[in-house]
Amino acid sequence: KVHEQLQVLRGNIRVCCRVRPSLSPGAGAPKEAQACGITYPLPGSLCVHASEQRQQEFEFDSVFSGEATQEEVFDEVWPLIRSCADGYNVCLLAYGQTGSGKTHTMMGPERNPGLSVRALKALFDITAAEAEHGARRAISVSMLEVYNEALRDLLQSDAAKPLDVSAMGAGQLATGQERVPGLTWRPVACVDDVLAVLAEGSKNRATAATSLNAHSSRSHALLSVRLTDAAGQSSVLHLVDLAGSERIAKSEVAGQQLKEAQAINKSLSALGDVIAALQSKSGHVPYRNSKLTQVLQDSLCGSSKVLLVCCVSPEVANAQETLSSLNFASRAA
Ligand code: ADP
Ligand code: MG
Repeated sequence: KVHEQLQVLRGNIRVCCRVRPSLSPGAGAPKEAQACGITYPLPGSLCVHASEQRQQEFEFDSVFSGEATQEEVFDEVWPLIRSCADGYNVCLLAYGQTGSGKTHTMMGPERNPGLSVRALKALFDITAAEAEHGARRAISVSMLEVYNEALRDLLQSDAAKPLDVSAMGAGQLATGQERVPGLTWRPVACVDDVLAVLAEGSKNRATAATSLNAHSSRSHALLSVRLTDAAGQSSVLHLVDLAGSERIAKSEVAGQQLKEAQAINKSLSALGDVIAALQSKSGHVPYRNSKLTQVLQDSLCGSSKVLLVCCVSPEVANAQETLSSLNFASRAA
């Protein structure tokens, strides 16, 4: 109850920032480039020191420094998981340049898991407690990749079957109608089931890619969780590891890379536009401009709850990209 009231007070869209810790210096990198360029003037704020002359301060619903643990970040997310169990659609997104900690935040290493596994564990705990009172709810998950404006089911090993997304407006799908028809949903009953599904999806994602790291930075990865009650009512939690937000100069790439860069640009700006439209409570929300926003639209609408985690790198050398990520996040806040 207290959490619910907090949610109402804080609004349906929240934005936080997580600064990755400084990584151990790479051989030969100039010392100056590795200097930390971020300070924390007040709780909920951070200041980027791009140079001695140039500093910019930002405020968010919360700010996590490089010392924050996975558990501390999850504490911020827990109320949204509770909301999902209460029937809300929820969307958690990690935004930021490649190397800023998105995958660490969403997935994390096995021994120190990120938000995805923690969120599912929390949902299992909630549904187990409810089951003691006779309420039965089933949980299933899907894994989807959006690459170059094409959707791929990561739980199908033969990626031959292309998927599409329904053009129906947000909240207009009939009961039982799928947003992404044909997408695989796997029932899961415990954390081990989830880990097995994640391993399968990651394996399928890697098989098709020549370099997984490069590929994963250029595609959006969605882990979606569906909670369905005995009457068939369901709510969905999307956990999204977005493609790297770094700006790629058009002059530097051609062919396939240019196409990738344009697709990322298009979908991330569409996402920014959708969130901005929701924040301004303007009537028209432009979901149609990218596959990503179309797939997520039932969890990016007036009745849903959204948390954008803006991941940034602390090094002065990354200050330009850090500023650009924080400006994107500020527009959403
Ligand atoms: P992205 O997915 O945004 O490209 P990663 O999550 O892969 O970035 O992070 C880049 C590197 O930094 C990885 O080696 C990752 O393990 C490490 N890293 C990121 N965030 C943290 C953190 N909070 N604590 C420890 N290591 C981190
Ligand atoms: Mg990543």
